[in-house]
Amino acid sequence: MRNPDRTPIGVDLGEYNLYTACPATMPNSRGACTISGDEICARLDELRAQVAALLASVYDRDTVVAYVSQCRNELLEALEDAARELCEYASAYDRPVLVTEDCHYEPDLWAWLTDPDAHRGTAWLLAMAHLRLRAVAAEYALEVTAVPEAYSSQECHGCGVIGDRPLDKTLRCPNPDCRVDVVHADYNAAKVLAQRYSSGQRCAYRSSPPDTTAERPALVADGGPPQLPQDDA
Ligand SMILES: [Zn+2]
Repeated sequence: MRNPDRTPIGVDLGEYNLYTACPATMPNSRGACTISGDEICARLDELRAQVAALLASVYDRDTVVAYVSQCRNELLEALEDAARELCEYASAYDRPVLVTEDCHYEPDLWAWLTDPDAHRGTAWLLAMAHLRLRAVAAEYALEVTAVPEAYSSQECHGCGVIGDRPLDKTLRCPNPDCRVDVVHADYNAAKVLAQRYSSGQRCAYRSSPPDTTAERPALVADGGPPQLPQDDA
């Protein structure tokens, strides 16, 4: 069982927001830590275009690899700066533990740069953001732990129902008895991850997509009672 004396700080990783962090008890998204991924995504896109041009030019492959290595170091510095900002935020809490989703990706920058089918986040950015966060957290003596990621970006933090994404960056809870309604998706995901540290549960309760107004039966996915709406939604 997880340590009840710790303050779990959920950390959601993404491309729009590289890191979004908040404790399970955060009353609203204004107190969350959000660090934009815009700049590093733009640099990755630019590097990909540069490498394609270089590989098609007179430069030999070793020269291009050396250039990529230099750029990779600069990208890592940017990730570490972001991770430090997050660790500073988390360190203000009492006995914090950073809670991320479990990550199954291996960072492979060359794959992102040269494989036309590679996805920026899964090929390199999210996996490396995980690794750098762990390394920087160690400097701050912050524990990092992972919980199952299933549905963490879709589950409503207030009631556990699977929400829908009417807009890219928001999640709408379809449960009429839940007070959450519409919430920033990354903040919601960070809160869900923080809650999972304490509950030890995966997504406990979900509904079918809210495409009709008919009653939607709840499903118990993998153990545990449905969570009731909470006051801190
Ligand atoms: Zn809800």
